[in-house]
Formats: sequence, structure tokens, C-alpha cells
Amino acid sequence: MLHDVAIVGAGPVGSALALALADADLDVVILDARAPGETPRGDRSLALSHGARLILERLGVWRALADIADAATPITDIDISQAGGFGHATLAAADEGLPALGYVVSYRALQAAMDQALSRAGVGIRHGVAVRGVAGTSTHAVIDGEGIGAGPLHARLAAIADGTGAAVSGLTRRRHDYRQVAIVARVWREAPHRGRAYERFTPQGPVALLPEGDHYSLVWTATPERAAELLALDDAAFVATLASHFGTRTGGFTRAADRRSFPLVLEYAHEPVAMRSVVLGNAAQTLHPVAGQGFNVGLRDAFELGQVIVDTPREALGDDAMLRRYTRQRRPDRMAGVAFTHGLVSVFGNDLAAARWPRGLALALLDALPLAKRAFTRAMLFGLH
Ligand SMILES: Cc1cc2nc3c(=O)[nH]c(=O)nc-3n(C[C@H](O)[C@H](O)[C@H](O)COP(=O)(O)OP(=O)(O)OC[C@H]3O[C@@H](n4cnc5c(N)ncnc54)[C@H](O)[C@@H]3O)c2cc1C
Repeated sequence: MLHDVAIVGAGPVGSALALALADADLDVVILDARAPGETPRGDRSLALSHGARLILERLGVWRALADIADAATPITDIDISQAGGFGHATLAAADEGLPALGYVVSYRALQAAMDQALSRAGVGIRHGVAVRGVAGTSTHAVIDGEGIGAGPLHARLAAIADGTGAAVSGLTRRRHDYRQVAIVARVWREAPHRGRAYERFTPQGPVALLPEGDHYSLVWTATPERAAELLALDDAAFVATLASHFGTRTGGFTRAADRRSFPLVLEYAHEPVAMRSVVLGNAAQTLHPVAGQGFNVGLRDAFELGQVIVDTPREALGDDAMLRRYTRQRRPDRMAGVAFTHGLVSVFGNDLAAARWPRGLALALLDALPLAKRAFTRAMLFGLH
């Protein structure tokens, strides 16, 4: 049997694509290794831009998400600063006439809202299918793995949103190892966060505090050696070290919980397509978390791929022309996401004292020039294309 589209991975990005295709007259099969109701990455928090909210509204996910208590915390201001140098900028939702610049969302709640929207739309997921290989022929993709059934599955187009894209043959990837790790944790302060996020550039790398529920979601970049020391501290010593590292911009940390770390790499497929296959979301680009862009770019991949698929005649799905069209359409936004996050880390995340003055100037100008600020804020809200 030849399916029109096979979606591999029903995480937030694969589910968004499935929802974008829910009303199309297409035979779509959705595979995921996880068991029904299971959320393997449930401990993560995701940063959603205002633009991502608009997409989730169109996909019928936002309402369900907003109904889950504390699932989405609005970010009303972002305070950007650098340690050991002057310069400071504040981006405010009110300046854009919006209720929020973005939201911090629990992965678990988002996945639950996506699963709910899929079942409301009558879209089923084949759970417990771990795909091992995706290869292309001139007419279709061949998808193989555990739990798939008697033989491989065939589809005109395979859309891979499994978080890595490792199963797809014929992709060329670029990789940059930042030689740093991100420590993530939940931290509490004496004062309520009032929707304010902090992005502080320190000589050792950026630190972000994102408001979430009654606490902040912390992302602290450090060398692997320093991270090992920080992870070994008890909670009281950890919050004291965080307060002194963060400096004067915010203080009064009282508690930390759920500390863990992951290595920071930039990895992306320059062309997110191979024969009869397309990769999207984290499988297409894994970005540094500095600006909270990763999931937003992935969601735009899903939404735009959905539109390209719907606009393509069934028999042309997955052919070279369609894959080229998608690649061309997504290139500016994907590459801007890569360049923006990588550039920010390169310019702001180093310990060269000589760079502090120009960095301070850039922040001061960003704060003082309404047009520059507006352009930067809009890039954070809607992406960079
Ligand atoms: C270690 C790590 C930590 C992160 N932490 C943060 C954070 O703190 N904040 C933030 O904003 N972003 C974070 N991110 C980025 C964020 O997780 C991604 O942007 C987002 O999860 C992308 O969604 P996705 O659907 O593309 O992939 P994923 O969320 O990875 O979902 C992939 C889906 O595919 C399924 N799957 C995987 N392999 C297979 C297979 N072989 N066969 C079938 N199904 C499969 C999985 O079960 C899952 O449902 C982190 C990323 C990583 C790698």
C-alpha cells in the first residue's frame, strides 16, 4: 500500500504537521516510538513566540493549552544585559500592543494539548513504532523499523520530525560543538516574576531566566567542567552561586529544583531534504537555546510544509520539484535562525574584555532606537524572514 505522507515522530513538530494536514484529502500515516500517553521529553520547557501562538491557534491547539492550569506563562518583558559591561535593553509587549512577547510552555502540557487536538480531529498515531531507516526511490520513500508490521511502509513523501533525523539516508549535516553545556533547572525568587524574562550575557556564556508558573525556568551555559561543579552543589549553594553569577539584575533566589544538563551543539541540514524525504523541527536544525528560537523555527517548518503539501497534487508529493519548492521557501527563515542564535553566542558569549564596549553600545542603541528595537522585537515575535 502506498500512503501519501508518512510522518515519523509525533512530538510537537510532527503533531503540528499532522494537524495542518488533518482536513486534507490525503492518506497520512503518523508513527511514533513512544507509547500512548507517554511524553519522554516531558521535563523540558519550551519558549514560544507570539507568532507560534498564532500558528497553534490556527491548528486548534492553543485553546486546549490555555485550559491547562499554568501550562503557558506569558512573557511580558525581556530584560537583556551583559555582566561586567554597560548597556542594557528592555523589550516590552506593551510597546507592540500585544498581551505577551511569547510564552513559556511545558513540553508535557503542549504534547497533551496536541494529542487532544489530534484525537478531536480524528487523526490516529501509530504508537510504539521505532523507525530505523528511511530511504528514497524515484517513486516513494521506504520506511523501516521496529513495530512497523510485516514489511516496510511506503509513502510518496516521508516527513521526519523525530528530533534527530538520524534514520534518513542522504542528508548532509553541519555541526558545531560549542564545547559548553546548558544547565536547566527550576528556580524560585522572593519576588514574583510578573512575566519578566532575563537574558544576561556573561563572559562564561549566556544565562536566561524565563517566567514559568510560580518560578523561573533557568538555562545557564557553562563549560563542561564548571557545569559538573555546579551540578554537584547542594541546592542552597547552587542558588547562592547563581545569584552571584547573575549579578545585580535580579537577586533573592530562594530555591532550585530539577537540575540537569545537556551538551550545546548547533546541528543543521543545509538542505533539509533527501530523496522523497524532508526533515523538520529539531531533525532539521538543533539550535543553541540562547534566544529560545528552536521550537519556533520547527513549528514554522511544520506549518509551511503543511501548506506546500496541500498545494501539491497528490501524484507530485515528494518529487524533486516539491522538495525544492519547500527548501527554497524555508531557507531564509531557517538560515536566519541558525545565523541569529550562532551570531548571538559568538558576539555575546565570549570572555574578550575588548568586546564588552561594542556589546554595551549595541545594547544601548537597541534600547534607545525605536526602529532597531521594533525590528529586533518583531524578529523575536515572528521569526527573521
Ligand atoms: C537535550 C535537549 C534539551 C532541550 N531543552 C530545551 C529547553 O529547555 N527549552 C527549549 O525551548 N527547547 C529545548 N530543546 C529544544 C526542543 O526540545 C525542541 O525544539 C523541540 O522538542 C522540537 O520538537 P520536535 O517535535 O522536532 O522533536 P522532539 O520533541 O524531539 O520529538 C520527537 C518525537 O519523535 C519521536 N521519535 C524519536 N525517534 C523516533 C523514531 N526512531 N521513530 C519514531 N518516532 C521517534 C519521539 O518519541 C518524539 O515524540 C531541547 C533540545 C534538546 C535536544
